[in-house]
Amino acid sequence: MIMKTCTTCGETKSEELFYNGYYRCKDCQKEYMASYYKRNTEKLKKASANWKKENPEKAKAHVTNWKKENPEKEKARQTKYRKENPEKRAKWRKENPERAKTLSSEWYKNNAEWVKLVSTKWRKENPERMKTLRTEWRKENPEKVKALQTEYIGELKTGYVKKQIKQRFGLANPPEELIEGIRQQIKFKRLLKIKKDEKSIDAS
Ligand SMILES: [Zn+2]
Repeated sequence: MIMKTCTTCGETKSEELFYNGYYRCKDCQKEYMASYYKRNTEKLKKASANWKKENPEKAKAHVTNWKKENPEKEKARQTKYRKENPEKRAKWRKENPERAKTLSSEWYKNNAEWVKLVSTKWRKENPERMKTLRTEWRKENPEKVKALQTEYIGELKTGYVKKQIKQRFGLANPPEELIEGIRQQIKFKRLLKIKKDEKSIDAS
């Protein structure tokens, strides 16, 4: 084993405990760098900002690379930033509505599985909050509600009704009249439910 003596702490250590070509041991070198950074923070920050200004492409590539190599850290950094700067985020979203929309829909696409999992869990744990949210959304989007209702009532295709009949009565090949009768019955029930929902919205 090759030994070396550190010029800072004076200890004799294995060569592995030194960075290549250094006379300070790794521990002392780390300490030295930390204190150097502390003493020159402003200067170093300025130099780094200057370098970024003069090498925008390289700086960008640097950041992109780092993000790619440290996805977990980047995720944590973003979460922390969002938590600490809610007003900045809101302001940015307000000023860039289109971009914000695209970004969030991209995000949802990329995290669909996770969103599904979390939202199912959240819905289960917050039934009251969910109810309020739904009511609020319905209040603010009357046209969408109407469209959804039309779709809901209109989409009573024969296949669906047949399935319902099979489940309810165990009939595999129901006659035409029965299909039509059940279809009307389901429509009526759905309409009643919608009326009830509308009343509860009006009352809230
Ligand atoms: Zn040392």
